[in-house]
Amino acid sequence: MINSTKSMKTMDIYDIIKKKRDGATLSADEWVYVITGYQAGDIADYQMASLLMAGFIRGLDDNETATLTAALANSGERLSWPEGPYVDKHSTGGVGDKITLIAIPIAAAAGCKIPKLSGKGLGHTGGTIDKLNSIPGLNTKLSVEELRHVTDKTGCAIAEAVDLAPADKRLYALRNATATVDSIPYITASILSKKLAAGTPNLVFDVKYGSGAFMGETEKAAELAVSLVKTGTNSGRRCRALLTSMQQPLGNNCGNALEVREALRVLRGEGPDDVRELSIAIAAEMAYISRICASLEEAESLCKQILYSGKGYEKFDEMIRAQGGVPDYEKKLPIAKDIISILADVDGYINGIDAYAIGRAVVALGGGRLKKEDEIDYAVGVVLRRKIGDEVTKGDLIAEVHAGTRADKENIISIVRNAIEIDEEPVKKLDLIANRV
Ligand code: URA
Repeated sequence: MINSTKSMKTMDIYDIIKKKRDGATLSADEWVYVITGYQAGDIADYQMASLLMAGFIRGLDDNETATLTAALANSGERLSWPEGPYVDKHSTGGVGDKITLIAIPIAAAAGCKIPKLSGKGLGHTGGTIDKLNSIPGLNTKLSVEELRHVTDKTGCAIAEAVDLAPADKRLYALRNATATVDSIPYITASILSKKLAAGTPNLVFDVKYGSGAFMGETEKAAELAVSLVKTGTNSGRRCRALLTSMQQPLGNNCGNALEVREALRVLRGEGPDDVRELSIAIAAEMAYISRICASLEEAESLCKQILYSGKGYEKFDEMIRAQGGVPDYEKKLPIAKDIISILADVDGYINGIDAYAIGRAVVALGGGRLKKEDEIDYAVGVVLRRKIGDEVTKGDLIAEVHAGTRADKENIISIVRNAIEIDEEPVKKLDLIANRV
C-alpha cells in the first residue's frame, strides 16, 4: 500500500473520524494514514477509540476491510516463503481443540509445507504452544531461520508466534477496552493481518460456532467465515473456511499434556471420532487448497490413508524430535497428582457440556492463564468420559478432574458437575462441520 506524501499531508484524523461517523467509506490511503499515524504516536488513543466506535457502528465495506487488513499486516515484519505448497491454518479457538497437533503432521505427510506460528492461551481456550510445551525438551521458541530449517527438513514446524502485525496488538487492546471487539470487519482484519504477515499463500480457517465459541451465534460465525475467505482472497491468498461446532469441548481431554496424549492416540488411529473427523477434514482442506490434490475428495482419502497407515504419527514424531523433544516423550508427559471422579447423579442423556465452563475449570486448575505472566501446570485438566447424546445411569463415571496442588478442588468439581447437563430426553447434536466456504 503506497501513499502519496501529498495526500498523507492533507489528511487529518479529525476529518477521518467525522467522515466515518457520518457513514462514509474511508479510502485506502485514509486507512493507511490512520494505522501508520497510530503506530507512530501521531494519533492519540482517544482519537483511535472514536474512529473504532464509528467504524463499529457504521461498518466497513469489503475494500475497507481489505485495506485495514493490509495496513495492519504492513505494520511490522513480513515473512516470505519459496514457491510451493506452503499453507497455514487458523482456529478461532475452542476448548479441547488439539486439531493443529494432528492436522498439521497429516497435511505435511501429504506434501504440504507448514511453518506454523501459534499463540499461547489466554482465558478459557488453550493455546497450541502451551500444549506442545508439556513435551519434555521441546523448543517452541524458534527463530524465523530455525522455523525455515525445520519446515524444510520435515515439512512442518510449530513455533511461538513472533511479533507480526504489531499495530494489531495495540488496536486489539484498545478494542477490548472500548467494546469494539465483536465487529466482523475488525475481527477479520485482526486475524488475517497476522496470517498475511506470516506469508503463506494458502490459508484454511476453522471458525467455531456454538456455546463455547468466541462467536457463539451460528449466523455471526458464518458471517466471519465468509468475511475471512473474501478478504483473504481479495488480498491475493487462496482461502477456505469450515464452520465447526463448539457446542461441547472437542474430544475427551481438556488440558495441555492430556490433549497431547489424545492427539497421539488419534494419530495412531484411535481416540475420539469428532477429533479424528475434524483433523482429517482440516488436513484435507490444506492439501486441497495448496494443490497437492485435485479435489477435496481425493485429499480426504489421502489424509485418511496417511492417518491409518501411521504416516501422520511418524511425521508428528519427526517434527517433535527436530524441535528437541526427548526420546519416549509420550511416557514422560506430566501426570496430575490427584484424579477425582465425577459420577452421574441421575439416569438420562447427556444433553449439554458447557465448553466455556470446562475451559474455565482448566484455567482454575492451573492449566491456563488469566494473566499473560501466569505459570502453567501442564499436567492438570478435565477428562470427559461421556459426551452429548450418550445415555447414562446414575453412578456412571461422566468426567474426571485432574488436579495439582494449586486449585480449590471442591469449587472446580462443582463447576465441572454443573457444566454437564443430564435430561430425560436426548437433544439434537449440532453438526460437527456445519458448512464450508
Ligand atoms: N482473534 C484475533 O486475533 N483478533 C480478534 O479481533 C478476535 C479474535
